[in-house]
Amino acid sequence: MAALRACRVGRSIVACGLRAQSSHATATSPKSKSAAGYSFELTDEQKEFQATARKFAREEIIPVASHYDVTGEYPVPLIKRAWELGLMNTHIPESSGGLGLGTFDACLITEELAYGCTGVQTAIEANSLGQMPVIIGGTEQQQKKYLGRMTEEPIMCAYCVTEPGAGSDVASIKTRAERKGDEYIINGQKMWITNGGKANWYFLLARSNPDPKAPAGKAFTGFIVEADSPGIQIGRKELNMGQRCSDTRGIVFEDVRVPKENVLIGEGAGFKIAMGAFDKTRPPVAAGAVGLAQRALDEATKYAMERKTFGKAIAEHQAVSFMLAEMALKVELSRLAYQRAAWEVDVGRRNTYYASIAKAYAGDIANQVAADAVQIFGGNGFNSEYPVEKLMRDAKIYQIYEGTAQIQRIIIVREHIGKFKA
Ligand SMILES: Cc1cc2nc3c(=O)[nH]c(=O)nc-3n(C[C@H](O)[C@H](O)[C@H](O)COP(=O)(O)OP(=O)(O)OC[C@H]3O[C@@H](n4cnc5c(N)ncnc54)[C@H](O)[C@@H]3O)c2cc1C
Repeated sequence: MAALRACRVGRSIVACGLRAQSSHATATSPKSKSAAGYSFELTDEQKEFQATARKFAREEIIPVASHYDVTGEYPVPLIKRAWELGLMNTHIPESSGGLGLGTFDACLITEELAYGCTGVQTAIEANSLGQMPVIIGGTEQQQKKYLGRMTEEPIMCAYCVTEPGAGSDVASIKTRAERKGDEYIINGQKMWITNGGKANWYFLLARSNPDPKAPAGKAFTGFIVEADSPGIQIGRKELNMGQRCSDTRGIVFEDVRVPKENVLIGEGAGFKIAMGAFDKTRPPVAAGAVGLAQRALDEATKYAMERKTFGKAIAEHQAVSFMLAEMALKVELSRLAYQRAAWEVDVGRRNTYYASIAKAYAGDIANQVAADAVQIFGGNGFNSEYPVEKLMRDAKIYQIYEGTAQIQRIIIVREHIGKFKA
């Protein structure tokens, strides 16, 4: 982790970001008072994160992305390399041996990794999702034990919430946790768990209050579960439409014993922790979608400048050039959306509204931009020898995982109307 860890020591990213913004405003526009306070300039440290991730994605991920897509192999060498470079687990607090980066910085890295391959990026990002409940609700002891081990070797974790019968409607999950002395006994089934077969430990949400009338805010408990606990059966790797090298599985928990020390915050606090994680993980998911969309735009642009029809490059036909303009417009706006959502949570403000806007918009535009890239490639776009058909398949999941496009809109309008009621 040498490069990134060294430049990070002892600095708060929020303070650092704000310091850089104000000094930038002074340096570039001393006459304008109104320019101070708002800046799109990254700090030197952020530029370094971005450059490291960009170099890794372009030199090491892109050349092998197609291989992993075709074979569906889990990209172990890339994950190890990302870990060595400090591009994984960036949220782990410094007190547990991590970089302690904010969401904004994590997003910059995620966008670059996604530009290379979103299958690889999802495998890496799923660690952040699994870790986030422990970061939000874990005691120092829990954090040191479970997050600390991830700074010592490149191991994975997973977020186990969805079940075969309940995804969007999280409060309908059926996995049960029953207290017996100093342990809980877990029974149930989870589905679509990213890193499910590769994880060293899981964050698991289970119903601990059998009363069906108990409110969600009190009925569920969040646990840290060692993946090698007796009673855990890991299902087959699912064959998905896209992001095929990411490991997605069902997991059965049968009489799995979890010590009470592994409860996060306390019995009944699980739903809030599981949902609260999304405020910090949805901006990076949106950043992943932006990385994919940027890649689709770049590939389509290069192709449109080379491919000739009717005596000129297709980029010179207005219909094609306007498609490129629309694609660029969407990429730029979705990038602003994730940056706003990430910035809000980094300065300590509730960002649920912005996180859902970023996730919904970036997920949608990734699909539109990738489909437009396929269109610009014509027949070649439909063929796996060219990069854009993979992008179109990979894009779809951004409208489904971490809350579907419809669920994001439900959250956005709930937050929006809430402001009128306040
Ligand atoms: C590749 C992949 C990786 C995943 N990784 C993880 C993971 O690591 N951990 C984890 O816990 N889960 C994971 N998931 C699960 C994912 O979060 C769920 O699939 C998603 O939340 C949707 O749930 P569902 O599939 O049950 O669909 P459903 O909830 O059954 O929804 C079906 C459709 O109905 C719509 N819908 C549902 N309710 C409403 C409503 N009230 N109003 C309007 N429309 C509605 C949805 O938007 C969707 O279009 C993953 C899924 C996939 C496919």
